[in-house]
Amino acid sequence: MAELVLKDLVIKYGKVTALDKLNLTIKDGELVTLLGPSGCGKTTTLRSVSGFLPVQEGEIFLNGKRITDIAPEKRGIGLVFQNYALWPHMTVFKNLAFGLELRKMPAEEIKRKVAAVLASVKMEEYADRFPRQLSGGQQQRVALARAIILEPDILLLDEPLSNLDALLREQMRFEIAAIHSRLGITTMYVTHDQTEAMVISDRIVVMRNGRVMQEGKPEDIYMRPQNKFVAGFMGTTCFVKGVVAQLDGERCVLRTDDGIELYGIATGLNVGQNALAAIRPEYILLGSRAVAGSAEVNRFRAQVDRSNFTGELFDYQLRLGNNFIRAKEYEAKTVYELGQTIDIKIDEERLPIVYDTDSGATAV
Ligand code: ADP
Ligand code: MG
Repeated sequence: MAELVLKDLVIKYGKVTALDKLNLTIKDGELVTLLGPSGCGKTTTLRSVSGFLPVQEGEIFLNGKRITDIAPEKRGIGLVFQNYALWPHMTVFKNLAFGLELRKMPAEEIKRKVAAVLASVKMEEYADRFPRQLSGGQQQRVALARAIILEPDILLLDEPLSNLDALLREQMRFEIAAIHSRLGITTMYVTHDQTEAMVISDRIVVMRNGRVMQEGKPEDIYMRPQNKFVAGFMGTTCFVKGVVAQLDGERCVLRTDDGIELYGIATGLNVGQNALAAIRPEYILLGSRAVAGSAEVNRFRAQVDRSNFTGELFDYQLRLGNNFIRAKEYEAKTVYELGQTIDIKIDEERLPIVYDTDSGATAV
């Protein structure tokens, strides 16, 4: 059982406020990812939980017990960083055994345990190698094994895959997710890579400037972003400005200044408020596909302004009223010409209407 709660954490480096009353809960066994751009306070959060960075305001609780001022080694926390930091002069076996030896575990038991943990990260063949004899991905697996062998209550991972090449990074995402679901260790994972966060997480916490902008399941963060920052951070998004004209539960109509009515979904907005439609290129149908259904909601005429063929898809820039939006079409049957006016239809279930975080207003 390990539940981690961060309450109103404030950390400042001189004049820079790195964490600005951060609140966060990680439930037992959950893998929660802190996602946000460089400098948003992810590493600072991790270091404060590990105990290596003192907290100036606020509290940290582990299983209801206040650990804010407890020494790092007494917190039951395992750490893995971007640079694997394995001990170069020790074999893989020794790297893993070392912490157990310090705990005076009998040699036979250490052997058994190292073998089991190496198997769990698929490295059982490599016990006798030195770190320099391993690839980056293998070193990172050993670093992960070294953290989990001590059976921490909480595992903290800070951009553990960012030094790996793209292919290996993709593969390791699945493996980390698999290891987590096998072992069920409560895990705080840090990344600036939204796809990585989507693949790995039970829950994503999107951060900006030391604050939480939104948290939720990956699909909710992607499909139901509540503000411009989150929508813009997740995938490709084109924003169209307007005023909330109607609200019915989460159904929302946004009227643009050129008179277009966009139907979408929203939370936390009011009628009359300025807001943005967050249009995702993959949720637009073009041409005959746009008029195939009977409903005319979100069906418009748009002009092809730019067209790129990437091999797997056509990527169009379209002029819709006074705005430019993008549309991606896979398995294109028709190729549209520059300047051509075509029918388009935007999926209203997949059109978030969001708060404009850049508007200067204070509410989020
Ligand atoms: P992230 O991990 O999300 O990239 P950090 O937690 O490292 O962000 O940093 C948050 C903010 O604190 C940034 O503005 C960064 O420049 C600042 N910062 C981090 N560490 C220090 C430090 N040791 N001294 C001064 N400023 C720091
Ligand atoms: Mg960092």
